[in-house]
Amino acid sequence: MKSEQVLSELKRRFPNESEYHQAVQEVLESIEDVYNQHPEFEKANLIERLCIPDRIFSFRITWVDDKGNTHTNMGYRVQHCNAIGPYKGGLRLHASVNLSILKFLAFEQTFKNSLTTLPMGGGKGGSDFSPKGKSNAEIMRFCQAFMTELWRHIGPDTDVPAGDIGVGGREVGYLFGMYKKLAREFTGTFTGKGLTFGGSLIRPEATGYGNVYFLLEMLKTKNIDIKGKKCLVSGSGNVAQYTCEKLIELGAIPVSLSDSNGYIYDPEGITTEKLEYVKELKELYRGRISEYAETYGCKYVPNARPWSEKGDIALPSATQNEINGEDAKKLVENGIFAVSEGANMPSTPEAIEAFQQAKILYAPGKAANAGGVSVSGLEMTQNSERLSWAAEEVDNKLKWIMQNIHENCVKYGTEADGYVNYVKGANIAGFMKVAKAVMAQGII
Ligand code: NDP
Repeated sequence: MKSEQVLSELKRRFPNESEYHQAVQEVLESIEDVYNQHPEFEKANLIERLCIPDRIFSFRITWVDDKGNTHTNMGYRVQHCNAIGPYKGGLRLHASVNLSILKFLAFEQTFKNSLTTLPMGGGKGGSDFSPKGKSNAEIMRFCQAFMTELWRHIGPDTDVPAGDIGVGGREVGYLFGMYKKLAREFTGTFTGKGLTFGGSLIRPEATGYGNVYFLLEMLKTKNIDIKGKKCLVSGSGNVAQYTCEKLIELGAIPVSLSDSNGYIYDPEGITTEKLEYVKELKELYRGRISEYAETYGCKYVPNARPWSEKGDIALPSATQNEINGEDAKKLVENGIFAVSEGANMPSTPEAIEAFQQAKILYAPGKAANAGGVSVSGLEMTQNSERLSWAAEEVDNKLKWIMQNIHENCVKYGTEADGYVNYVKGANIAGFMKVAKAVMAQGII
């Protein structure tokens, strides 16, 4: 397999899907050598079979707003690979959603899920519907309309969706409610459910907490204590909030947050009290992060991301490609020594190169944010058992999984000079397990 050739063929067959090409390129480049040690893979054309999703559903969603106007959006579900378990991955509601983004996310999800050690395949879905400025009733009608199509393609042993950007507890509740009605069953077909109807304790916290657990493992390899370290966090949704919560608990100092309109920089540090304000602002009032700056009198920069600010550690937790090459160079110049990604693919290839050239600790989302789907996997287990586990039990399992992913990254990613290339480690470890499972199941 020559990664360049495979990629140019994919670009020819699926043009205008830049995010998908970017995600595939990163994996192909890091697995090429290991892959080529297995001639049986090449013979079975395994690489194309793992780059192209098993199937994609796309459909029209029609819903009515509060004023009686009728709207249409596109809905999608990408079922990428179910070699090691049912398709599993979130639903994203954001105006930017298109097939390229969902194909990249489903592809990444397959290898991330493999890394967790839990039996989950990879998928992703969503819609170009923007929840911003919509009333509760509009969100509910949209979610119900979305589910009238999606429900046919999912199920507890087939495909288990969850949340992502724009899909939190409220949306999962509406989606699950409609699924349950149409499918006439109560099963663990969704994860991220409310605690009163089968949700797992620690699921809302899991991606952010898991990212910080992964960061701790990286810091341990350099004997660095997280206490007192200034952390640049982006985003202000689920992942960013619980990243901050864990950082504060461990004595680190989160100093920034952002949303799609700009970022705040609070040199005094975001405290527990300020974080509670952010949770309310975002979850209840659905406000803008600029309001934080007004309330606490700190700096707000519109239409920008926090990467030019000073800090020790960066935890990008908003969206894909939010750190470009220039941002990464600036971060390194400013003394950042660790980057742990809460978001999926937040760093462009140029940014990754800058981090790795500077030999700083750099963990890709595929490894560092796998805590979310891991606890989703644990939610599926609890639903199958019809039991719910204590928070401490789930949290301990989450810690163990993140430590295990870290160990695997070190095992497969340590280079001759001792530098741990976490991208390579995560890609090889995630890919090989899926590859072996696909091979064992024949040409299908
Ligand atoms: P939320 O919807 O809760 O929050 C997303 C945050 O990112 C918001 O602050 C949002 O700002 C901002 N954002 C979204 N899109 C953009 C954009 N195009 N430009 C700038 N800012 C943007 O989502 P999550 O916190 O759940 O997800 C954040 C990231 O983490 C995503 O990459 C997601 O795929 C990833 N992730 C999430 C997991 C989970 O369990 N939730 C699991 C693993 C990964 P605004 O409100 O203005 O839109």
